[in-house]
Amino acid sequence: MLTISKPQIGQAEIRRAVKVLKSGHLAQGEEVRELERAFASYCGTRYAVAVNSGTAAIHAGLYAFGVGEGDEVITSPFSFIASVSPILIQGARVVFADIRESDFCLDPESVDNHVSKNTKVIIPIDLYGRVYDHPAIAAIARKNNLRILEDACQAIGAHIRGRKAGTFGDAAAFSLYATKNITCGEGGVLTTNDRAIADRARMFRNHGQPEGKRYEYVDIGYNYRMTDIQAAIAIEQLKKVDRVNVQRIRNAQLLSTMLGTNEALVVPQVPEGMEHVFHQYTIRLKGPLAARRDGLVKYLHDRGISVGIYYPRPLHLSPVFSRLGYRAGDCPVAERIAGEVVSIPVHPGLTQKDVSYIAESILEYVG
Ligand SMILES: *Cc1c(COP(=O)(O)O)cnc(C)c1O
Repeated sequence: MLTISKPQIGQAEIRRAVKVLKSGHLAQGEEVRELERAFASYCGTRYAVAVNSGTAAIHAGLYAFGVGEGDEVITSPFSFIASVSPILIQGARVVFADIRESDFCLDPESVDNHVSKNTKVIIPIDLYGRVYDHPAIAAIARKNNLRILEDACQAIGAHIRGRKAGTFGDAAAFSLYATKNITCGEGGVLTTNDRAIADRARMFRNHGQPEGKRYEYVDIGYNYRMTDIQAAIAIEQLKKVDRVNVQRIRNAQLLSTMLGTNEALVVPQVPEGMEHVFHQYTIRLKGPLAARRDGLVKYLHDRGISVGIYYPRPLHLSPVFSRLGYRAGDCPVAERIAGEVVSIPVHPGLTQKDVSYIAESILEYVG
């Protein structure tokens, strides 16, 4: 089966993890500190704070910004629940703006229309591995004195003319979950240039204790610490990130060359100067073909190709948000696009022959 994702774990990761296992020090320690140094240096931020998931990184970012009851956070409904659940956990209100069909990311015009006097933060999502429309969203944030928390969970290594994902907001969240471009099973990192944000995040991940002040509980926090075992794996993965991303980009180019000429398919368009790292390679099925999506998924599955639908339903139509009064029609673009997208394997474990076979199989079905 050609799967939608495949972790690329080599001997270096295994050796380093085993070394930690034999060292007697398994919890957060020197390996975590080293990962943080390497991660900040890779992204080009002053600070990186490692936690145990991308969700925890988003939560820590919101906490560090001081988001709480009465605050509104604007974000996209076209994402994974982890982009928004920390907003609710902090007692703030989720405000969904619509997305743009050209890049699947937040539509700046819709964001602008949803700003109120209670808005505190915008969470733009670097969906599928491309950077959101940073200049337009940053202008809205500046005008209204808002903070930006970039959800870069899918976008490690993506950049715009050398400026990397993770540097586009006041803080950014990364995930090291097993399906992401690099992984340590579960893990997350918050990046920022702001010392106060980094310090608050460090305190939050460790039960509200400031760094170096054990048993001084300044605030309620969580156990969001990463282990040295995970950090050891992540350090070795980070050394490979550019290599695995180049392979994804090469696979994506081949897919676009083969699929891009078919009228019924919309392939990803990447603007000049942007590096999209293709955490997902997502196409849209146009017109009547969208109604045959389930058939395509089954057709490919029968040919040994597993594809993903990210995401089949916009977040605001999930039961948890229906109960809060969100309705169909709130974000029409996201609602339509959720019925059109298909993500197809693009990971570095595929050969060029696999990629051609995947594209040919899709073209066969589409006709
Ligand atoms: C994976 C992901 C998360 C959550 O990361 P976890 O490490 O699974 O907690 C959040 N947002 C987006 C967009 C993601 O893809």
